[in-house]
Amino acid sequence: MNVHANKEPSFRESVDLMFNRAVALMDLPPGLEEKIRVCNATYTVRFGVRLRGQIQTFVGYRSVHSEHMEPVKGGIRYSMAVNQDEVEALAALMTYKCALVEAPFGGSKGGLCVDPRQYEEYELEMITRRFAYELAKRDLIHPSQNVPAPDMGTGEREMAWIADQYARMNTTDINARACVTGKPPHAGGIQGRVEATGRGVQYALQEFFRHPEDMEKAGLTGTLEGKRIVVQGLGNVGYHAAKFLSEEDGALITGIIERDGALVSDKGLDVEAVHAWIGNHGGVKGFADAKYVENGAKVLEAECDVLIPAALEGVINMTNAQRVKAPLIIEAANGPVTAGADDVLREKGCVIIPDMYANAGGVTVSYFEWVKNLSHIRFGRMGRRQEEARHQLIVSELERLSRDKDLDWTLSPDFKQKYLRGAGELELVRSGLEDTMRTAYQAMAEVWRARDEVTDLRTAAYLVSIDRVATSYRAKGL
Ligand code: NAD
Repeated sequence: MNVHANKEPSFRESVDLMFNRAVALMDLPPGLEEKIRVCNATYTVRFGVRLRGQIQTFVGYRSVHSEHMEPVKGGIRYSMAVNQDEVEALAALMTYKCALVEAPFGGSKGGLCVDPRQYEEYELEMITRRFAYELAKRDLIHPSQNVPAPDMGTGEREMAWIADQYARMNTTDINARACVTGKPPHAGGIQGRVEATGRGVQYALQEFFRHPEDMEKAGLTGTLEGKRIVVQGLGNVGYHAAKFLSEEDGALITGIIERDGALVSDKGLDVEAVHAWIGNHGGVKGFADAKYVENGAKVLEAECDVLIPAALEGVINMTNAQRVKAPLIIEAANGPVTAGADDVLREKGCVIIPDMYANAGGVTVSYFEWVKNLSHIRFGRMGRRQEEARHQLIVSELERLSRDKDLDWTLSPDFKQKYLRGAGELELVRSGLEDTMRTAYQAMAEVWRARDEVTDLRTAAYLVSIDRVATSYRAKGL
């Protein structure tokens, strides 16, 4: 099972190795293991777009890993590094991720070989619409078959273009908006989707820190307050995770690693200020109030309590795993730790909260968005004022009692304001997300604690999700 020190497996091989480690502990019927592991289909498309006076050809992929539940779900990534191996690995992770957080989807993923920073907005729109057209005409974008979402290099803007392209091609489909998630709220999106993956990372860490017996395995004590955290990648996921953990949990962001280097500060970095600096200057270099380290990847090896790789895959590998000092790694990115590095880190006693759980906040809120689109109504619209009216009844009654009995007490204005406010869409989304992250952690951690042969959370997560996928295949008579 262990990988030789000089041979780093590819991303898909890494996922397969981790899958195999888990199924070796299961008792699956012959053949079912292979059926679950393999990627069902990968579609490659090459299309031309006329840009700057000439035709440019682009290569894109949409991979479907498992259709045990439909639609299948998974983001679309824009990056020059996109390739079939990567897309298939990411599609497989989506299958296990959805099963773990009980989102009723199969796994899929897409990617386009493009560097979005090289194109004007109108050019990117043309490229995106053409890619969406190619996928939609083969039902690889479809509300009941295949529902993409944002990933590295894409966001709300691209999802709005995809939704509009699909609607133009399917003018009578009343559910057209449910063909993609991660749309902006004005185009059928949901409140809280942009922050969802980073928010989920925060909820995952909060849940881990509620279990002293789990923290002990990483040699950690206390709360998140004052814990030193290093984050790699201050994009959508990394920025929101770092922001919430520092602003709401009192953690110190002692390192931020970006493409052009890293910033370190023992007293903690101001995440908003660094984010704004990157927005204005294209990188972290030159930011005052912190030490700049040109070789950013070195900071993955810095002393800290929690390491959050939130950029790309394979960054913790056999060349640096031995030097990583963090006792706890939470994989906000997909596949940041290779199978070889995972072996090394496990042996060192490092606890890894695995990607399929840690970054599942995105697909969870995507699930809520899809349900919203299919039900054609915003969450909270029917019940919110009713809830407020019932709370007002209690408050008025308490105040009447206090007056009538001449009691010497009053409700604090802060309490009244909070208690009387009915939940809107954002509160409901956060509540659903927190519940999902806590429930999934408990399912995974129970297996980790209960079975001696399960020595890490990743294997535990695979065991829970493979078992659920297998149950679903069995129910279909396979
Ligand atoms: P993003 O494009 O918004 O951000 C990526 C960030 O990483 C950028 O700030 C970029 O500059 C930085 N980066 C790129 N290469 C780097 C390098 N070599 N060193 C340091 N920093 C580097 O992407 P994102 O949506 O935040 O996704 C990040 C990871 O999270 C990916 O692995 C993605 O698959 C995963 N993920 C994203 C979502 C989501 O909802 N967006 C959901 C689940 C998982």
